Amino acid sequence: MDKKIIVAIDGYSSSGKSTMAKALARLTGYIYVDSGAMYRAVTLYGLRKGAVSAERGVDEAALTALLPEIDIQFRKDEAGNQRTLLNGEDVEHEIRDLEISNLVSPVAALHPVREYLVGLQKGYGRERGIIMDGRDIGTVVFPDAEMKVFVEATAEVRAHRRLREMLEEGNEATYEEVLHNILERDRIDTTRKESPLRKAPEAITFYNNEIPLEEQMMVLHKIFDERVAQANAKDNG
Ligand code: C5P
Repeated sequence: MDKKIIVAIDGYSSSGKSTMAKALARLTGYIYVDSGAMYRAVTLYGLRKGAVSAERGVDEAALTALLPEIDIQFRKDEAGNQRTLLNGEDVEHEIRDLEISNLVSPVAALHPVREYLVGLQKGYGRERGIIMDGRDIGTVVFPDAEMKVFVEATAEVRAHRRLREMLEEGNEATYEEVLHNILERDRIDTTRKESPLRKAPEAITFYNNEIPLEEQMMVLHKIFDERVAQANAKDNG
């Protein structure tokens, strides 16, 4: 029996992390967890309850008080696509819209929010056999992950990718709005005090300016197999 490892995929907004992570999960049979969806779900809950708003920003105390009420689960639909459930409600569509994208980074910068979600994320990885993407997975959530990948792409490539996804999902936006949102999230995510977006020193950098997915998968699958072999050898040695 092969040893199960943890794969941490971090990087900038819309760099293609989740597409890679999902494809690798399909190839390996591992569980995929989209940590960004969890920050988005908390933002949506805060928005609905008045603790987060576009005009007033985030009320940290009010949002912190709401955290224990928030349950986040993932399930697969008939087509095999992952859906995010917030207290049992499928919010996959809503958490991807521009309103949430514009509010999520200030929410994700708050210590109580990170503490709560990182606790849940660590729990998902207890048995290993997991692929998680986000901003701090290789640095904070799973510093001991056997495989760490850091994904980069130009802001323009990322904005085109995100716009395409949003339009496909039926969420409206213009290229300029999406580019602005991506640059702003990069700024907040890299400069915040709490767990800023950083490349773990041992992470492999992946420049993803429109590399075909099959090519990405060939590289990632090879690294994955090597890391599993190393984990097996370590276990037997
Ligand atoms: O991955 P996605 O773009 O959906 O993430 C939305 C936002 O959630 C990011 O811009 C970032 O502010 C926050 N995030 C985070 N840490 C993670 C995953 C996401 O701070 N591990």
